[in-house]
Order: sequence, then C-alpha cells, then structure tokens
Amino acid sequence: MYQTAVARNAGEPEFHQAMHEVLESIAPALDEHPEFLESGILERIVEPERQVMFRVPWTDDRNRVQVNRGFRVQFNSALGPYKGGLRFHPTVNLSIIKFLGFEQIFKNALTAQGIGGAKGGSDFDPHGKSDAEIMRFCQSFMNELYRHLGEHTDVPAGDIGVGAREIGYLFGQYRKVTNRHESGMFTGKGTGWGGAEVRTEATGYGAVFFTEEMFATRNASIDGKTAVVSGSGNVAIYAIEKVQQLGGKALTASDSSGYIVDEAGIDLDLLKQIKEVERLRISSYAERRTSARFVSGGSVWDVPGQIALPSATQNELSLRDAKALISNGVEAVAEGANMPCLPDAVHAFQQAGVLFGPGKAANAGGVATSALEMSQNASRQRWNFSDSEDRLHNIMRGVHSAAFEAADRYGRPGDYVVGANTAAFVKVADAMLAQGVI
Ligand code: GLU
Repeated sequence: MYQTAVARNAGEPEFHQAMHEVLESIAPALDEHPEFLESGILERIVEPERQVMFRVPWTDDRNRVQVNRGFRVQFNSALGPYKGGLRFHPTVNLSIIKFLGFEQIFKNALTAQGIGGAKGGSDFDPHGKSDAEIMRFCQSFMNELYRHLGEHTDVPAGDIGVGAREIGYLFGQYRKVTNRHESGMFTGKGTGWGGAEVRTEATGYGAVFFTEEMFATRNASIDGKTAVVSGSGNVAIYAIEKVQQLGGKALTASDSSGYIVDEAGIDLDLLKQIKEVERLRISSYAERRTSARFVSGGSVWDVPGQIALPSATQNELSLRDAKALISNGVEAVAEGANMPCLPDAVHAFQQAGVLFGPGKAANAGGVATSALEMSQNASRQRWNFSDSEDRLHNIMRGVHSAAFEAADRYGRPGDYVVGANTAAFVKVADAMLAQGVI
C-alpha cells in the first residue's frame, strides 16, 4: 500500500516520509479494526480530498512582474472544516505542503476540537521584501484562494513566513472580494479584530506544556533544567518564554545563518526586539549581549541541554545531532516544528530512553488555539489571556493523555509516536467509516 502511494506521488520525499511514519505506527490498530482495511480507509486517507495550485503574479517595487506558485491542499474534512496554516518560504513545493497537510489531519484530530486537515502556501520569500510588496503578494494570493475558503469550508492560519502582518493583508483582501467580514474564515487575526488571546504564544507554550506532561510521567519537571531550542520565530520565542516561566533556562535560538548560545539564559526582551520588532538576523542578539556568542553554521544540537525543542523546520535534526544530544545527557525532546527530526534520529532518542514528543502531538497547541479562536468568532465572545491559556493547557493535557494511553493500549508504552498516530488515526478512520465512501 505504501509502495503504491509512493509511486502515485513520485518526487515527493517529505510526503513519503510523513506517510511512512504514520503507516508504520498504526499496524496494531489495523489488526483490531479489519473494517478500516476493507473499506479502503488507507487508500483514501493518503489521497487529499482536493488540491489547488495557482499562479500568483504581483508587481515588485521596481515595477517588475514577479510570479510565484500558490498551493492549498485540502486533505481531510471528516472531523470538521479544513484547517491548517499557510507557509511562505522559497522551499515550498507540493511535497512540503502535502506532508504538512497530512500531518495536520492527525494533529487536528488529537486536539479533539472538530477540525479537518489542510495546508497551503507559496514559494514566495518574504525576506527582504518591502511591506508594500508583501501586501501586493498577499492580495494576489487571496484573489484566487478566497473561492476555496470559508468558516465552514476551509480556515487557514499562519505558519513559517506568515505572521500577523501577512494575515492582516490576506484577511483584508478576502473581506474586499467577498464583501463579508467573516471572522471565522482565518485564525491568527489581530486581537483587535477577532483574533484570540494566546494564539501567538500557543504553539511554543503548548510544546512546553507537553514536555512538562512527559516529565510528569517520570516524576520530574522542567524546573531547574536547561533547554536548547532551534528557530527564532513564534514557536521558538514562546517556547523559551514558557520554559523560563516554569523555572528552566533556555540557552539557544537559531536561524538559517547560525545559532546563538547565551549561558546566562536567553534575554527574551532582546530576542523579541530583534526578531519581532526589527526583523534582524539572530547574530544581532550576540552583538548586543556580552554573555552570548554567535556560531555561524554548525549545529545548535551540539550545545548540551536536558531538554531539546526543535522549533525551526522539517528535517533539521539528524541522527548525528541526536547522538550528540544523547551523549550530552538530553532527557526530553519535543518537536515544536513539524517533522524536524529525521526518522533515524527519532529511533535513536527512543532507543536511548529519551522522552520524545512528536510534532503532531507536541505542537498541536497552535492549531488548538486556532479552534478556540473559531469558537469565539462563532459565538461573538472574547476570552481573556489567562482563561485562554488555561484552555490551551487543558487541551495539551488531553493530547498528552490520548497519546500516552494509546501507546499503552497498543503495547508500546511510552512511545508517543505510536500513541499519537494510532489515537488520531482511529478517530479519523471511525468518522470516515461512518460517513460512507466519499
Ligand atoms: N501552522 C500551524 C501548525 O502547523 C497552525 C495551523 C493553524 O492554526 O491552523 O499547526
């Protein structure tokens, strides 16, 4: 079945990787549910319900015409409207969007918030573009995508390269071309116009809540521990914030040019100033802080820490990196990004007895808080920060126990990869079975 799917989706290695991880985990669930195989659930679940690819032409500041490619892969809506972010990054292609959309089906199922799975984006690179160029690009992107969206159809959000600024422009154009102020058709909106409190923080906070839950199964906690973190976007920044709030010390952050190590612990105000306000490279952090140094290139995973939170991008942590972390005494790894650890790195962590939280469980807090935003939009309510954070915390406890219990039940105690995949798969497969061959 996997070989057929690989042949049908030739040249899409990231999608193959994501499919393989799920399919190799769910064998015990398939033994218990022969009806899933009989009704073609596997063949259906790896085939997106709909895929849209489109031209995105726009004019740069020098009046030259530029052309990018837009994507939206609406993977599965058995549990609710399609839900998942948009990524703007030069590496975006169909394989990347399909792996992300596929992961999103299961991640969203684990949140228990009634949301289907989708992902989209473009190979557009926001780096170095003016605000006006970003706006024109977003408007052109939405001139096509709007017809595929809607609060009960498909609800995008941010991802790499799509933050508050881009969401503002995308939402504005949707409103203009549809003549509808339809709050629930996008999440991650500004808090002054329908956005939810804690959405910005949610993925990072959630990954740390998940880590705390994993530690609790061993009567341990984050308090007093050191953490190495990759990335310097939303996920990394707010993972660092929550680690610090829980008494840990985060030592690193990175971007594509290298990483910084701050033995005194990351100065969050400075990190936010550099990345959120001034949008500079991470090396600027080391220029402004004497306790920090910048390492150009190299691997952030060579820095010793008891917790590792890969929060940059897919396939950023190799077997070599895993071995370095293990020999430096890492105790827990939680994926803040989507699929940051290569499969052999994951196996190495598990074999070494390191607590390992896969992205579809550990980083589900972002999309879960998106679902809270949808609820607030639908009921015209606004929940405050601490109420919203409590709800996120409860959802992450639920995600953890769903994965933990499924791992136990299917004979792989402590294996959160098997636990998350089987708990999510069974939920989606049950819904697909009930809804007929569609
Ligand atoms: N892009 C995020 C993720 O990977 C969030 C998606 C959303 O909020 O819809 O889960």
